[in-house]
Amino acid sequence: MATRRLVPIDVTVAPEAATAFRRRLHRWYKQHSRDLPWRQTRDPYRILVSELMLQQTQVSRVLEFYRRFLHRFPDLPTLADARPKSVREAWEGLGYYARARNLHALAKQVTSTPDGVIPSEPAALRSLPGVGAYTAGAVASFAYEKRAALVDTNVARVLHRVFAPQLRPKSGPGLKQLWRLAEQLLPRTGKSTWTHNQALMELGALVCTARVPRCGICPVSAACATFPQLQAGETNSGAPTASTPRKRTNTRRAPKSV
Ligand code: SF4
Repeated sequence: MATRRLVPIDVTVAPEAATAFRRRLHRWYKQHSRDLPWRQTRDPYRILVSELMLQQTQVSRVLEFYRRFLHRFPDLPTLADARPKSVREAWEGLGYYARARNLHALAKQVTSTPDGVIPSEPAALRSLPGVGAYTAGAVASFAYEKRAALVDTNVARVLHRVFAPQLRPKSGPGLKQLWRLAEQLLPRTGKSTWTHNQALMELGALVCTARVPRCGICPVSAACATFPQLQAGETNSGAPTASTPRKRTNTRRAPKSV
């Protein structure tokens, strides 16, 4: 069978299309989003803890660890003063302990600065231990309501399927295009960006899933470039067809760095 050739492209979205996409997405989010504790706070420390815990770990698993960890280390100075053994104990069972080590190192680094405050700008956030492009965007937009883009695996999948099924999302150039796309789609204000980024991630987690996209209930199906292909049983977008093996990938994960 002939394989389709993927050509390099520069994806741009017309402003009207971006507005229509955001409107549908935000309306859906307001009706269907999950009530998660890290969505009830703008405390950058709590947001950071949730983001590191959620990397490659299911939400349902993180919930109890998040509550316990914050009970033991309620703020950045308490964490900075803790012994490494105590931090590891609080993380025990969650796995990927490098995250706990990075969080502890980050707490020490930030509390040793004159203001002792977690930075709000993505570039400054990226200089902290364990903070990559995705986490920097997440803390900037979720804690500080900055107009900052983010792309994790869920967002990459949604943007790829809706706007650019021609891209190779796992390649360096493809991922760079997805970041540009995420920036083009940002609303005008930081407050709306909070909703927008949460909504994109929620759509990828609940509807446009890696295993079986639920196109029948998708709020953006009318704008989705992959939807017609899925209906016809043909796709190169990473969306599974009847013959595609299923994978468990529905955790928060930053794609390989840009
Ligand atoms: S229509 Fe289907 S493939 Fe497109 S974004 Fe929605 S769930 Fe994903």
